[in-house]
Amino acid sequence: MRTTLLSLLHAGQPILYEAIFGHLEARDALHLLSTCRQIREIKNCLFNVDTQLRRFFDKPLRFRQAMATHKLVVGGSVALKLFSRATWTPGDLDVYTRSTRAVLGLSKLLRLEGYVFEPYSWHSVTVEASIANIGTLKERLTRINQRIPEDNETEAEDLEKVYKSKDIRDVYRFRNPSTNARVEVILTIGLEISAILDGYYSTYIMNFFTYKKAYCLFPYHTITLQQGFRTTPSFNSEKISNALDKYHDRGYLLSEYGAFHMCKLSCPMRPHRRIGDRFTWTIEFPTDDILAPDDIEMPIEANTFGLRLHSSFMYANEARDFEAKDFVYVAVFSYDHKLLKHEILVDSRLDSWRHFLMEMLEKVEKQRLQYYVADPLLQEQTTLVGRDQPLDAEVIKYYNFWYDCIMPGEFLWRGQYPMLQ
Ligand SMILES: [Zn+2]
Repeated sequence: MRTTLLSLLHAGQPILYEAIFGHLEARDALHLLSTCRQIREIKNCLFNVDTQLRRFFDKPLRFRQAMATHKLVVGGSVALKLFSRATWTPGDLDVYTRSTRAVLGLSKLLRLEGYVFEPYSWHSVTVEASIANIGTLKERLTRINQRIPEDNETEAEDLEKVYKSKDIRDVYRFRNPSTNARVEVILTIGLEISAILDGYYSTYIMNFFTYKKAYCLFPYHTITLQQGFRTTPSFNSEKISNALDKYHDRGYLLSEYGAFHMCKLSCPMRPHRRIGDRFTWTIEFPTDDILAPDDIEMPIEANTFGLRLHSSFMYANEARDFEAKDFVYVAVFSYDHKLLKHEILVDSRLDSWRHFLMEMLEKVEKQRLQYYVADPLLQEQTTLVGRDQPLDAEVIKYYNFWYDCIMPGEFLWRGQYPMLQ
């Protein structure tokens, strides 16, 4: 048989394609992967989450099962490395959860994997005791300020690093003494992805994965150009400047947003975004051996956010000018409704989507008060179960309608695309 590029890139030939893709830049790898279906099949092998997790766990699948059971989200450098396939060694594994029960569940698994809890100065000796004593942030700050002698400022600095973010409640640190791998479990105040979207300092670290899917929110800039935009007003903390240096050494640079992007229509820097939209790069993981959680979930892809990127001015001759803002403001807040079991992140720049969602939910709520049984057989599910069923799974359907039919007419879009002027 004649050897062609296609036979070399067959999914059954890992040695060959690993060698070829090992020499390609992420951008070229993406181009090659998009050429035909046969090549696309090796995608699962190239972007293999379990391979990334093996540095931290003997049994990566067991960790992904814990991710499913406890609805954990992984962010940070491990998520970035999954997309970039870079050769640098990621630092800690950053695991996000808003549930203290999940922290306890995960700490059991970490113990099985050989990890030990390394308490920060304000923690108790065990995770269990630290969680039992968690209290409110203010209480703890006062308690610690009373406890430490005035000449010992390290403890206060440590604490400040953790609590700099308004989204984080606490951080639990684990280390595996035999491999020296580290896992940080970040207990968030609100939604896990809110801590990532709202709390991170640059677009290049806005990558994360759940047990079944990975998301890179700004793929063109992050992966192809290795470029990020600042997402906080200032870099005044030591933690951020250390992180900046670390990512700089890995080839990631911070850039000015600027007025013109070469990426044009594929540019992910848009005023309105949804997690998993066509500007997000996503990778699905095999989940055949994982038991999905059976309770009602708010799909992660129902979360939206806004980006405030530049101001625009119209001159008398109708020419438009753009002025980039100092930093990219991620506009997002969390919304809840009694017909939704979980809260959801909504673009706070654009009121239209939140209004539409609210109107839909209110309509359903009103309707539910006066069900008529038109056809008991056809509507059995609705009449027996539907009355109290939360609508979390429906949100994305409302969104798609809003996106197709209502959003294009929003005033917000005027003058928002320097690349289209
Ligand atoms: Zn762009």
